[in-house]
Amino acid sequence: MTYCMGCMQPLGDNETHCHLCGYPAARQNPSPFLPARTTLSERYPVGRVLGEPGASAEYLGLDVASKEAVVVTEFLPRGLCGREEETGALRVLPGCAESFGRLYAQFGQ
Ligand SMILES: [Zn+2]
Repeated sequence: MTYCMGCMQPLGDNETHCHLCGYPAARQNPSPFLPARTTLSERYPVGRVLGEPGASAEYLGLDVASKEAVVVTEFLPRGLCGREEETGALRVLPGCAESFGRLYAQFGQ
């Protein structure tokens, strides 16, 4: 089953655009956001970017267990870190470790 990354509803086999929301089936998120269809915790594939509140990124996600759309939040302070192309891991930019650590401490609260 393929899902629309724009609204997390099932897509038909030959749909190039979602019949519900018009989102292009092949559209990818821009760097440094997580690539669409990245699955977190083996349960939550992420879709389009919803916004960037504070030092984080919010994605539309799907809970594959319940088949319900969810909001996935990732700690992603733009300007302080980039993403490794190969692994998808975040890498703190030189000289930004202190700011990154301070924001990360706040993020968990
Ligand atoms: Zn859609």
